[in-house]
Amino acid sequence: MAKKKTIDWALAPAPENKDHITIKPQYELFIGGKWVKPKSGKYFDTINPANEQKLARIAEANEADVDAAVKAARKAYQGPWGKMPASERAKYIYRIARLMQEKARELAVIESMDGGKAIRESRDIDIPLAAAHFFYYAGWADKISYAFPGKQTSPLGVAGQVIPWNFPLLMASWKLAPALACGNTVVLKPAETTPLTALKLAEIIQEADLPEGVVNIVTGAGATGAAVVNHPDVNKVAFTGSTNVGKLIQRSTAGSGKKLTLELGGKAANIIFADATIDQAVEGIVNGIYFNQGHVCCAGSRLYVEEAVYDEVLRKLKHRMNSLVVGDPLDKNTDIGAINSKEQLGTINKYLKIGQEEGSDMFQPTCDLPSKGFWCPPTLFTNVAQSARISQEEIFGPVLAVQTFRTMDEVLQKANNTPYGLSAGVWTDKGSKIFNMTTKLRAGVIWANTFNKFDPTSPFGGYKESGYGREGGVHGLGAYLNLN
Ligand code: NAP
Ligand code: MG
Repeated sequence: MAKKKTIDWALAPAPENKDHITIKPQYELFIGGKWVKPKSGKYFDTINPANEQKLARIAEANEADVDAAVKAARKAYQGPWGKMPASERAKYIYRIARLMQEKARELAVIESMDGGKAIRESRDIDIPLAAAHFFYYAGWADKISYAFPGKQTSPLGVAGQVIPWNFPLLMASWKLAPALACGNTVVLKPAETTPLTALKLAEIIQEADLPEGVVNIVTGAGATGAAVVNHPDVNKVAFTGSTNVGKLIQRSTAGSGKKLTLELGGKAANIIFADATIDQAVEGIVNGIYFNQGHVCCAGSRLYVEEAVYDEVLRKLKHRMNSLVVGDPLDKNTDIGAINSKEQLGTINKYLKIGQEEGSDMFQPTCDLPSKGFWCPPTLFTNVAQSARISQEEIFGPVLAVQTFRTMDEVLQKANNTPYGLSAGVWTDKGSKIFNMTTKLRAGVIWANTFNKFDPTSPFGGYKESGYGREGGVHGLGAYLNLN
């Protein structure tokens, strides 16, 4: 565990036990309810980014494998799943939720090992929220007509879903639970660096006795994702990932008749007014950007502080940054775990260099980082221009760009001046200011006096280049239905 030089205390190591987990040395593809060797004959390794050790060998699906998965999904759709009463479907979805809860500890440890996130987060946020999504949508399965009064609802068919590495099991749940509740069948592709919890979910799905082929999980890299998205027998594409790949998918699905939802990148503004409770706001800033190593699409990566409280906020923020623990993701005291991959660390380091070259001042607390693995200490840039790349482009790491403002109009203009529009945060004592800001900020999710709070009942999604369509809540059902 990393020990801070800037503080005169260090917490004793408190590692989470990993004796209770099972990771097989090799995982095949999950197609038609069975573990199937890839026709590609290829495998890749998934590693633990905190120590670079191999965790398992994972099958790499090619087009023929994806075709087999789509065929299995179509067969299940035309067969048992399509014919099943919705109230029966709900029971399976409940069963998955219950099994996820029962195995929550194992899932949390594996999530932290495969992706690098702090155990506190996988244990308290990712896994409980993932189960909550299955519970929530299980409840909707036989009540869908009430969600859309006056409309005829029917499932779309086979959904092809592609997800990123920052919330692996949670993203899988966001995608699978509403799709199943609405009566669709699914082919899901997890990210190359974090396939393990999706594969554990496949084991849960087997244990829940879901009819064969209702959920198929095909592992691989970008080419596997492209094969899922471009398969002609897929009726719906749901993608979460980068804006660049989102644009590619939009182009490749255009004119195909496939229904499409895209959850893409973000560059959220976190706005602190002088009348905010500053100590609480500082916690919110830390949570907004350093939570999950900043690997959060809706991270509060741009901080706007009203000039009158700038000095106070900066002093308190730096003080707080000095006490953040960076290190072993499995340690219960860790605040900031490992960066997900060598590649992502390279991207973050590139932006740290760009920020300094652009003339901004960089602050990082001094900490000893482990010698193996991929690490980035919490980072703060001040003296940042609105046009600076670190304030315009998504970094996807624990890097915050700070600016000041004097008036509400000024901060609105600055906050909205980005190609993205996924989320924002407003900190103030005045309810009227909150309502004024929320009607004018162009972001899909706006938090007031809090940040990074998620709930299955609440819709989530972006404006502009952050994508379109909503996941979560009643809105999330519409994306998986024909509405006539
Ligand atoms: P990414 O490169 O776009 O990858 C996302 C997924 O797409 C991965 O499974 C990836 O496979 C796959 N993929 C890559 N190329 C593809 C292609 N041509 N066709 C189909 N699939 C393809 O994104 P990332 O860098 O891993 O993830 C971080 C990004 O996700 C950030 O921009 C973040 O903001 C965004 N994100 C958005 C949300 C949201 O809800 N708005 C949530 C989380 C993350 P590989 O794993 O092999 O690359
Ligand atoms: Mg991994």
